[in-house]
Amino acid sequence: MRPMALLLTVMVPGTALAQGMDTVTIVRQRAGDNVYMLTGRGGNIGVSAGVDGVVLIDDQFAPLAGKIGRVAGALSGRPIRFVINTHWHGDHTGGNEVFGSAGSLIVAHDNVRQRMSKEQFIATFNSRTPPAPAAALPVVTFSDTLSLYLNGDTLQAFHVARAHTDGDAIIRFRRANVFHMGDTFMNGFYPFIDVGSGGTLDGVIAAADLVLAGSDGATRIIPGHGPLARREDLKAFRDMLATVRTRLTAAKQKGMTLDQVVGADLLADLNPVWGDGFLKADQFVTLAWQSMGGR
Ligand SMILES: [Zn+2]
Repeated sequence: MRPMALLLTVMVPGTALAQGMDTVTIVRQRAGDNVYMLTGRGGNIGVSAGVDGVVLIDDQFAPLAGKIGRVAGALSGRPIRFVINTHWHGDHTGGNEVFGSAGSLIVAHDNVRQRMSKEQFIATFNSRTPPAPAAALPVVTFSDTLSLYLNGDTLQAFHVARAHTDGDAIIRFRRANVFHMGDTFMNGFYPFIDVGSGGTLDGVIAAADLVLAGSDGATRIIPGHGPLARREDLKAFRDMLATVRTRLTAAKQKGMTLDQVVGADLLADLNPVWGDGFLKADQFVTLAWQSMGGR
């Protein structure tokens, strides 16, 4: 395993995404024993750091990989042995090529490798993602669960079906009592449900229920986006989504169309709290409605 300092020499040169990245600072926050959350730009990163080395959960964008490697490496002084991707989106997998080339093993659900191998299109953002280079692809994939035993802890990655995408993994740090939920949890705002990648509102609610069942008052939860969370933050997110589902189910039973649902402003009371984030309320309602089979 090469030392992380080498990362500097294998940084991917200036892409469009690199613009403005030189001003981004990677900030570290403790989430539990040997576990940290890193923020910079893109999805929140989870870190397990200790005597056995470093595990990264997601890796933001390629131009940030050098900074991420330095911050994570300083926590352990040992190599980044594994990168686990919570799903395929570029703001969570952008550093894969850099870390993979430097010797880290990339781990993800089967469908992450499949989607990264082919061009992907997200209609909501009109964004096209080309197939990833070989070095960026996961080299270890799993269909259901996978466990890593290191740094005095057990890291369990488990798949949740059709939530944010069709390839989501949630990572549980058993001893540290921490979860990383990827984009199945966006703390404080309406979540993006990538319907084109197989995501559904039902799946996001089910993922929240699973983590709620396995957590307690001391649990810390790293969301895909937004601040480090406690159980009650996830509970509020889950309850909001359940309210949305109840209202959309009623609208469906009345035979409403998407235009009518959007026009009816069914989430007007929720928007002040949840509508000021990733998505506008109309975008969120549209995706939730489509994921429920509405037209
Ligand atoms: Zn995502």
